Amino acid sequence: MISIKGLTKRFGGTTVLDDIDLDIAEGERVVVIGPSGTGKSTLLRCLNFLDRPDEGTITIGDLSVDAARASKADILALRRRTAFVFQNYALFANRTAQENIMEALVTVQKRPKAEAAERAREILRETGLSDKGDSYPAALSGGQQQRVGIGRAMAIGADVMLFDEPTSALDPEWVGEVLDLMRRVARKRQTMLIVTHEMQFAREIADRMVFMHGGRIVEAGEPEQIFGAPKDERLQRFLQRVG
Ligand code: ATP
Ligand code: MG
Repeated sequence: MISIKGLTKRFGGTTVLDDIDLDIAEGERVVVIGPSGTGKSTLLRCLNFLDRPDEGTITIGDLSVDAARASKADILALRRRTAFVFQNYALFANRTAQENIMEALVTVQKRPKAEAAERAREILRETGLSDKGDSYPAALSGGQQQRVGIGRAMAIGADVMLFDEPTSALDPEWVGEVLDLMRRVARKRQTMLIVTHEMQFAREIADRMVFMHGGRIVEAGEPEQIFGAPKDERLQRFLQRVG
């Protein structure tokens, strides 16, 4: 249902994504791992044109966008089908938790405010934040802020949720509750593409893992294979370092 073909991204003279091919089935959870600077974030950001890819095709359901000639309408359509969870939460500081969750429903999806508010309250319940709807981000813990970030992404009802190291800015005490919420999302058969350094979590949640190195996918497979019988030497070294 998601198909990435020949995705390439250059910054200046440097090729950061080099001809990436990746297919993700509906409901599948794919975890991307790899050393720093290897293009993991850029891959996620290219999927909704936060970074504009130079070449390649991105297909989500019946929408197919050729990077080289993507129109504004194409980009908007892609963004409607993807939801991004950022490392640093990226919440609106001057909006409450509930308003943060409602934002895209009102501005992008043009839903009536009352309906968006009802949906936001539902999401607040699901994320365990019912009593925090009126709180501003500064009054929330890191874990609560990221749960709002995930709630905002859930609310959109996107075809795929993209997570870029959602727990790596958190104090250790808040990591568990955020991973729990992601497990909950996964149980709903939500298609997820996750960049994380939480190897135990990756092993548990991933249907498939992808190891990137130098802008390329070097190895992919089920967690059992990636952790138990890694083939590529760079992957073996990486696992020794992080494991
Ligand atoms: P990390 O694990 O540290 O988050 P990453 O795998 O997510 O790393 P990216 O952030 O995708 O790596 O970066 C890949 C490469 O692209 C790096 O060399 C980075 O310096 C470069 N890069 C990323 N964004 C830009 C930009 N806006 N302008 C120039 N270079 C960039
Ligand atoms: Mg990154």
